[in-house]
Amino acid sequence: MLATAEALSRLLDAARRVDGRERVATLDAQNRVLAADVTSPLDVPPMHTSSMDGYAVRAADLAGASESAPVALPVSQRIPAGHAAKPLAAGTAARIFTGATVPPGADTVVMQEMAQVSDDGRVAFAQTPAAGEWITQQGADIRRDSVILPAGTRLTPQALGLAASVGCAQLDVVRKVRVAIFFTGDELRMPGEPLEPGAIYNSNRFTLSALLAKLGCDVTDLGIVPDRRDATRETLRRAAIDHDLILTCGGVSVGEEDHVKPAVEAEGRISMWQIAMKPGKPLAFGAVRRGTDSAEREGEGSDAYFIGLPGNPVSSFCTFLLFVRPFLLRLAGGGNVAPRVYSMRADFSQKKGDRRNEFLRARVNESGGLDLFENQSSAVLTSTVWGDGLIDNPPNHAISEGEIVRFIPFSELMR
Ligand code: AMP
Ligand code: MG
Repeated sequence: MLATAEALSRLLDAARRVDGRERVATLDAQNRVLAADVTSPLDVPPMHTSSMDGYAVRAADLAGASESAPVALPVSQRIPAGHAAKPLAAGTAARIFTGATVPPGADTVVMQEMAQVSDDGRVAFAQTPAAGEWITQQGADIRRDSVILPAGTRLTPQALGLAASVGCAQLDVVRKVRVAIFFTGDELRMPGEPLEPGAIYNSNRFTLSALLAKLGCDVTDLGIVPDRRDATRETLRRAAIDHDLILTCGGVSVGEEDHVKPAVEAEGRISMWQIAMKPGKPLAFGAVRRGTDSAEREGEGSDAYFIGLPGNPVSSFCTFLLFVRPFLLRLAGGGNVAPRVYSMRADFSQKKGDRRNEFLRARVNESGGLDLFENQSSAVLTSTVWGDGLIDNPPNHAISEGEIVRFIPFSELMR
């Protein structure tokens, strides 16, 4: 059995970014990965702007202003946002609004609450402002010609806004990763179908489809494949044609009814199988041939990558989050694929496990510690809904109450 860290690094080393990029509207680019740096053609903001409704002045004109000796200035112009500003005549103030251009010559904005308009149209100031106050300098956010988003960035809502703030209407992104998925198990039925004795619902289809959708993949769902070697091989061959990754669920264990591993070996190869983790031990990785040439390594043209997930619902969920997610992000050209891990206090104790790395479903409690779900069986999907994330517990390690543990929130694993 391979240690999880070793297995993950081998998996990521094998992942090559898919070829092909496309130009998409910035509005449609959420979750896509940038194929090229985005460089700003302008300063943002493009001019000095006021960050308050008030008056633009030269601070020197208000030197010495106080409650007992206010300084009154005539208002020489009015500058709403989106309108050009004339230079500010010395000894005058400009009425100005949030987001409006600060007129040349003005160095300070006084907020309107600190100004008193008099009947003669002048405006009086009873305090000396600090020079530069309430002005956002040109280029304070972004400098012209700087790289604002490097290639490999996965586009979050904030990143889309940043790209739009420099005028990008379209973005060059890596093409979507194409994933084929199928489920093995003669016991599986779809919700909506009757459940005869011995049958269960194909819940993993729902979990895994939703996870793939979150990652922005192009997914072909090939449905449920019977527990037979020939049917499995035939489906693998079909899936290899048009997809970067073939993802399967179930049938990768050691039983006679587990046909996925031998089927992949017949149609390609298994390069990694069985990880020292709980849940998720039977995870398999390899490649399925596209043509007759089997000499090439996975992902280099003639092969489709293969990842076989265990069938137990918690196992397939956890192995997807910990292995398939970073792998798919790598295929899409993503740079930073590791989830952030937090150090948190365990408010429970837990017996020592075995030589496998445990991923325990836990929840953040009101005092900022972690509670453990009582049933950590890999068949108990309830734990994944109850929990907020996974405790990454090293092999052979007992957890004592109050100990600081490594916690990976689901939010990090689903970004
Ligand atoms: P397997 O990995 O095929 O040995 O399956 C392990 C366990 O997970 C068995 O109890 C299966 O019935 C169950 N299982 C397999 N596939 C699914 C699925 N798609 N949805 C829900 N449970 C499944
Ligand atoms: Mg099975």
